[in-house]
Amino acid sequence: MEQNMNSLIMIFGATGDLAKRKLFPSLYRLFERGRLTNKFAVIGVARRPLSNDEFQQSVKDSVVAALGRDKNIEEFISHFYYQSHDVTDSNSYISLKKFAEQIDYHYSLDGNRIFYLAMAPEFFGTIALHLKSDGLTDVSGYKRLVIEKPFGHDLESAKELNKQIRTAFSEEEIYRIDHYLGKEMVRNIEVIRFANAIFEPLWNNRYISNIQITSSEILGVEERGRYYETSGALRDMVQNHMMQMVALLAMEPPIKLSTNEIRSEKVRVFRSLRAVEGEEVKDYFVRGQYGEGTIEDEQVQAYRNEPMVDKQSTTETFVAGKVMIDNFRWAGVPFYIRTGKRMTEKSTKIVIQFKDIPMNLYYQTEKMLNPNLLVIHIQPEEGITLHLNAKKAGGHLDAQEVKLSFANTGVHAMNTPEGYEKLLFDCMNGDATNFTHWDEVAYSWSFVDKISKFWQKEQASFPNYQSGTMGPNAADELLEKDGFFWWPVTDLEVDICK
Ligand code: NAD
Repeated sequence: MEQNMNSLIMIFGATGDLAKRKLFPSLYRLFERGRLTNKFAVIGVARRPLSNDEFQQSVKDSVVAALGRDKNIEEFISHFYYQSHDVTDSNSYISLKKFAEQIDYHYSLDGNRIFYLAMAPEFFGTIALHLKSDGLTDVSGYKRLVIEKPFGHDLESAKELNKQIRTAFSEEEIYRIDHYLGKEMVRNIEVIRFANAIFEPLWNNRYISNIQITSSEILGVEERGRYYETSGALRDMVQNHMMQMVALLAMEPPIKLSTNEIRSEKVRVFRSLRAVEGEEVKDYFVRGQYGEGTIEDEQVQAYRNEPMVDKQSTTETFVAGKVMIDNFRWAGVPFYIRTGKRMTEKSTKIVIQFKDIPMNLYYQTEKMLNPNLLVIHIQPEEGITLHLNAKKAGGHLDAQEVKLSFANTGVHAMNTPEGYEKLLFDCMNGDATNFTHWDEVAYSWSFVDKISKFWQKEQASFPNYQSGTMGPNAADELLEKDGFFWWPVTDLEVDICK
């Protein structure tokens, strides 16, 4: 059910990369689909002095660069305004408040406000405190805070940040972005699980042998060396996106599809995570850092030679791990996760490997039967593939693998909405289901902190994988010692059926 969508969206960091590449194009897509009423306005806030006209031009340029179209763009950009602002100075907020009140009146926005913090995280707390003390949150309508990652860099700093933003906003008013939760196929996980009679009865430790989640990138750290040096793959990818996918795969069916019910089932998964600490970390987690190598016939440099990266850096650009969920449904089933930069392929996939059948009557030529796999393709392809065994055509009773594929991209190619578009729409609509609750953030940090604490003490021998590979050998050994292997990503490509 759609709520009152009228709102004034204030984007802090409106001249930044995120605003230009994601937020403006996503708002435009909502506009062109008729999902924004005429009652919306955006105030872009950033340090640099700009006129409204210049700002509107930059919004237009961003839309055209991202989407290659500009139908009705003049009407769209007429809703955008700009205010030069210093986030540490009260005077800036006082004039922003006056400006916001005028815009609110002009568009009849019912005093509804969304504050989107698309800025460096060190400013999040300061901005939230000022929004309250300088009266910007004093509104007759709703007020919501959208906050980008990273939410702290460990549990302690996350608690501190949470304390600051909670002085100005209640938990229900805080929308913590995890953009993976905006992805079509991540949202599809619960539908695949809970809307299919053939999966849910099998979705447990009696029938599933292991689950593998891989999120690999070809790109290196690019220009983000300064940020990445303070983060690394564990904090940048595992604490949020990878753990969110684990939770969606592992949670119990919610009693209904409400925000609170879904979140509380996810939290129960986080509470069931087997804590891994001290020397045990070596048995469960592997870290890596890329050295030089060749990607798509091009020689690329080692992480330590990237701009703004320490020549002796011990920051990990790769993590593989075995996550155990100690509850009735999942006891004994490893959830293997793997993420890294400068790998062979850009791809996010989930492989659910079912247990072998009790007795195998059919051998494929020279090899055992393949286990059944359900592959969920998150990106760049979107779809699902079910790997089955069927009779090979011809006289013998040999079995061969067949794949049943559904590719979202083939059917709805132009219509798959961008993640940020859905998240912005959800926020305007008051639906926080696909944003992370504080409890999820806290449990996830406490899991990850134990790993990083151990890694801080132990010397890393980096670099330990070549660019253009699937990570260090130890990541393969992690599965081999359990009798498994990573399913090769190239064998899992979805056949696009146009
Ligand atoms: P950016 O450096 O490109 O932009 C920063 C913005 O903050 C600019 O508009 C700048 O004017 C403004 N700013 C900086 N100091 C200011 C001050 N004192 N007062 C007022 N404005 C000030 O950053 P970005 O890449 O757009 O990232 C923004 C946030 O989004 C970060 O939290 C980042 O981690 C997160 N994020 C970014 C991406 C991405 O694709 N860029 C993806 C995921 C999350």
